[in-house]
Amino acid sequence: MDTLVSFPCLLPVQVLGSAIVYDGYLHVRVGAFLPSAKSTNFSHLGNGQCHSGEEYRIRVSLPEADNIEGLQLDCEWRLQCLLSEHHDVLSQRLKHCKDLTSYLKEVKSVVECLIEQTPASQSSVAQSRKIVEEMEKIGWEKLVNVDASFQNLTLQCEDAAHRQHRLIVHLGAQDSTPPQCVADLPGKFSFQWSAKGHVSDLMKQFEAALVRYQQFWDAVESVDQKTWVLEPDTPSFSACSRRIALSPGTSVQITVDPRHPTSMPECRFLGADQVINPLKDKLNSNIHLWDNSSSLVSNLETLLEVSFPSPTNSKKEDFSLECGICYSYRLGDEIPDKVCDDTHCGQPFHHSCLYEWMRSLPSCQQSFNTIFGECPFCTKPITIKLPTK
Ligand SMILES: [Zn+2]
Ligand SMILES: [Zn+2]
Repeated sequence: MDTLVSFPCLLPVQVLGSAIVYDGYLHVRVGAFLPSAKSTNFSHLGNGQCHSGEEYRIRVSLPEADNIEGLQLDCEWRLQCLLSEHHDVLSQRLKHCKDLTSYLKEVKSVVECLIEQTPASQSSVAQSRKIVEEMEKIGWEKLVNVDASFQNLTLQCEDAAHRQHRLIVHLGAQDSTPPQCVADLPGKFSFQWSAKGHVSDLMKQFEAALVRYQQFWDAVESVDQKTWVLEPDTPSFSACSRRIALSPGTSVQITVDPRHPTSMPECRFLGADQVINPLKDKLNSNIHLWDNSSSLVSNLETLLEVSFPSPTNSKKEDFSLECGICYSYRLGDEIPDKVCDDTHCGQPFHHSCLYEWMRSLPSCQQSFNTIFGECPFCTKPITIKLPTK
């Protein structure tokens, strides 16, 4: 059989009526000057018929064994990347071929040309081989994405609590150059990079880093589940702070230390003075009650002598109040954290909105760096400090 002589690594695997499917490898020569030619050795595959070069998994389906019209060529993704912009050339050549063998020879010559012409392809042949080897070690299910140059990878792995974490890797030009990594962690991802540049080693270090932050994520995740987190909207894995609703117009911003997630977080209260001052006092006088074996939420509830409104007994809209002047929540970096001290009002405002409003009213009086005026909502007295800038 002609095809078998020229392409010994491609075998007919399925015959169905007059249709036939070939499956196997397309072997192409790689120029001697290419880096991949030095490192490529197929002897370990035990296939004496293949010479040194590059091989690609392909599958050819013919609706009729003797007719190459309607031929369908499927190939592995490395070859797909290489051929991605050359489908016209291939279909053009298919028209001029009389049988499968001549067509496959055309494909082979196109691929050899492409490998030799494109500098990027030359290195990517070697690079792709390396990444394939690394992924065999890491596990293919952990590969989310890889670009055509095989230099940029997105890897994913699951932690003990089934949270999915991603690691974006930008490989350096040389194996020995440490890659640039982007990871959503509450601290810096520091890693050792060996001269051989194994991505699998990097992944192991990433997985070890995830283990170190388990306790932190468990702690903040329970805050996210049991309270109304007003900010951030959707906390990332790196987010150490949460602003938690206490009552309409009052909230506490906690900042958890990722290395000591069960210790008392830094707390900052936002709201009307007469509401938050007693809370600050309770926090200070009950500080000895903090128990590292309890959750953050129950510790805070004990110290503040409150119970946090939670998704089981309230709606988030009750707490995320907009500014009473501009009716928005975010204004640049500002949130409405200036709150009317009147207990029946408690309307929050952006500091800058309230400042502009009060400055424009002739009835307001300034003394040193404080303006005295009336709440735009309830007309009770309200004061505001001049902006520091
Ligand atoms: Zn505003
Ligand atoms: Zn008011």
